[in-house]
Amino acid sequence: MIMADAIAVLNAGSSSLKFSLFAQRDDGPALVARGQAEALQTSPRFAAKDASGHVIAQKAWGDGVTLGHAGALGHLIAFLREQLSGHRLIAVGHRVVHGGLEFVKPVRVDDGVLAALRKYVPLAPLHQPHNLEPIALLLERLPGVPQVACFDTAFHHTHPPVARAFALPREFAERGVVRYGFHGLSYEYVASTLHRHDDRAARGRTVVLHLGNGASMCAIANGRSIASTMGFTAVDGLPMGTRTGSLDPGVLLYMMDELHMNARAIETLIYQRSGLLGVSGISSDMRVLLDSHDPRAKEAIDLFVYRVGRELGSLAAALGGLDAIVFTAGIGENSAALRERIVRDAAWLGVELDDDANRRNDARISTSGSRVSAWVVPTNEELMIARHTRELVGAAGGSRDAVSSRTATARKPS
Ligand code: ADP
Repeated sequence: MIMADAIAVLNAGSSSLKFSLFAQRDDGPALVARGQAEALQTSPRFAAKDASGHVIAQKAWGDGVTLGHAGALGHLIAFLREQLSGHRLIAVGHRVVHGGLEFVKPVRVDDGVLAALRKYVPLAPLHQPHNLEPIALLLERLPGVPQVACFDTAFHHTHPPVARAFALPREFAERGVVRYGFHGLSYEYVASTLHRHDDRAARGRTVVLHLGNGASMCAIANGRSIASTMGFTAVDGLPMGTRTGSLDPGVLLYMMDELHMNARAIETLIYQRSGLLGVSGISSDMRVLLDSHDPRAKEAIDLFVYRVGRELGSLAAALGGLDAIVFTAGIGENSAALRERIVRDAAWLGVELDDDANRRNDARISTSGSRVSAWVVPTNEELMIARHTRELVGAAGGSRDAVSSRTATARKPS
């Protein structure tokens, strides 16, 4: 029997492990199942859905249980084996936040590559160690299955030197203290779809706004990233759910000198207690703020919209003009109210909102006469990783002793 190829995609955070399973079809990877294990250190839960959103598996371990990434992966491998009916797992693709300047495209990971990727832990201490842990575990547990790392930084490797540089003494750049940019897998996916909507957006000067819990914006010229609002770390640029975005470095000195805060306290403050949550004092969730009548919620939203507008002007300047803007991620894809405010503020750039299209969540939300077009394109970072992984291991399939089904049929949706 000829088995079809399947690819698993993992996105590991500090306390969660998100996964997607894709089956290779003639026109590319097709989603079979997705889900996550979360609260891995406190009260672990696992849930998976099929491609149409039906729950196909659920498990809770109870309070006080520590599952960790290793335990979660064990459960996931068993689940995947059940799901893989008629398929063999040819590779696992991993989202890895930092590839530094060295890894500018996806790479098959071996012990040497893993050691090289560990060098970037100090550049992304809250994400990189967790991204790498499942790779290390799977290299041991599934030695015949290629593990492929796909980087959030890689799409931005085309930035010109001037967009990369900080105005610091040169030795800092030599140590890797430069602007990298993140959310690259999202931007790459969105950029890869634009030709379906509009040739001018695909080939021209386009700003993509990835507005989710993490938020950034990217200037893309003819499909290549030339600037990002994020820099050395993913805390730069726009205010986010809980992150400050750009902050005068003098504020950090003040916190150290006058408030006696150490690096860890500042890290918690700027990554986890700031942004929409910090300004509103209510929530990091844009939906909650939009529903609130509290003036602090309005202030947080106003600040977010204002900063998006300023960054849009800045990125339009980096591009030398603007042909299109594209909204994506949780807020960008779903909030007509936020898009309306952002597009109205950008009228000076030549973009004109089509109110009805915006309210309907159409793909094109600008009027037909708008000089700059505006679009809503749902992102799909997992699919981008699956595509890269497939490409890297090749059509022949990379694994020598791939994981395949032990059971005859996939579990039916319940
Ligand atoms: P992450 O960065 O965690 O992947 P998402 O892209 O899922 O985040 O985006 C989460 C954000 O999107 C949250 O702030 C959430 O409130 C917001 N969001 C989702 N749906 C809506 C909506 N209908 N209106 C406004 N905001 C929304």
